[in-house]
Amino acid sequence: MKPQKILIKGGVIVTMDPELREFSRGDMLIEDGRIVAIAESIPGVEDAEVIDASNFMVLPGLVDTHRHTWQSLFRNIASDWSLSHYFTGLHGTISELYTAEDTYAGNLLGTLEALSSGITTMLDWCHNLNTPEHTDAAVDALVATGARVVFGHGGGHQHYQVVSHVDHPREDVRRLRRGRLASDNGLVTLCLAARGNQFATMEVTERDWQLANELDLRISCHFGDGEWGKGRPIAALAERDMLSPKLTCVHCNSLADDELKMLADAGCTASIAPDIELQMGHGWPATGRLIKAGIKPSLSIDVCSSNGGHLFGTMRAALGTQRGFDNEEARNAGKACVDEMQTTCRDVLEFATIRGAQACGLEAKIGSLTPGKQADVIMIRTDSFEMTPLNNPIAQFVYNCHPGLVDTVLVNGNVVKRDGKLVGVNFEEMRQLAYKSRDAIVLRANGKNGLKLDGTWVPKQYHTAV
Ligand SMILES: [Zn+2]
Repeated sequence: MKPQKILIKGGVIVTMDPELREFSRGDMLIEDGRIVAIAESIPGVEDAEVIDASNFMVLPGLVDTHRHTWQSLFRNIASDWSLSHYFTGLHGTISELYTAEDTYAGNLLGTLEALSSGITTMLDWCHNLNTPEHTDAAVDALVATGARVVFGHGGGHQHYQVVSHVDHPREDVRRLRRGRLASDNGLVTLCLAARGNQFATMEVTERDWQLANELDLRISCHFGDGEWGKGRPIAALAERDMLSPKLTCVHCNSLADDELKMLADAGCTASIAPDIELQMGHGWPATGRLIKAGIKPSLSIDVCSSNGGHLFGTMRAALGTQRGFDNEEARNAGKACVDEMQTTCRDVLEFATIRGAQACGLEAKIGSLTPGKQADVIMIRTDSFEMTPLNNPIAQFVYNCHPGLVDTVLVNGNVVKRDGKLVGVNFEEMRQLAYKSRDAIVLRANGKNGLKLDGTWVPKQYHTAV
């Protein structure tokens, strides 16, 4: 068979590769899903599909390292809630009402939404797997989208009555690892989305870590979200030699500085979700403290039941908050403002690309436009208000881009979005599926805990042993 070739021609290329940097005008050749060359000019290639990029900025696909995708059906119901309301509303009310079909609908909607906004890789932190049928439906939806997804098996409703003594449904994870997610080379791969020692007992946590070792899986785990994080959970793991490069810590806000250092020393990665953390009371985003400790964080959406599903807002929230801190520190030191910006637009784009790839264990494959890597690529319209005139591509991407400017998306060399539309997706069918599931869940809830969808529902605060 002849190789499938795509030549992207004449674009502003932001590679995020430390050697290649940017091209004010460049070409990129893709063969059989892999980037083979990037240069100022690649002369005519036989049999290649040519994509004219003369009005586009070309970048690596974005990476979201933690999203509870199933919640997409309840978009923005939690936008005015604290973490405590969220626990009652989502985990104490809605979660157990999902059928496997609803899980499919939520994951399909959320993953396509992400893909359309330029997120080519997502870690689906799926913690509503009440039965193996829910698990299969969740994975079916991810596979159907054509996105690159790390499926984080996170147990179900019954595992989120914190602090939990209930074991993770280990057999369901083993079943996936021996079956459809046995390979780490597919588009959809597996990791363990563990509760960890904030949400479950240390005994349960130790068994989860053993499971991840047994199945050779990475672990993603929430730490340092609000009061829970103040009990030194990372120090407890360090004492037991349970920190390793295979662990990604989500949030990290209320972890102590010496715990962040323990994470860095062990080679762990981090995922911050600044919009949610600021809203729900997790504490200030740990961006600067993590960097100081030696970890450049990745970015995540967390819950679309509260914030938006695209990373542009997340990049801006991460940057704005950290710049506020840096300026305050300078003022406290008697200066008018910082001498130079501590956190730059390039830094935050790095968080959204290469650091995301690293937190998914995929840095050898994706995260930058580098010959040899898989072609996960996005193209942004520059014939738009936001990009005219194009003076500073990285800053304009960070501060001015939105999903409407994401024109073309490639995953593994496959064009999944073209001319602003997802390829082969029946939007109306997906929309109806989403409404049908959402309405059925609301009907089953029958007013439980006051659930209604007119924007006035604020559930009672969840009471835990914090
Ligand atoms: Zn989360």
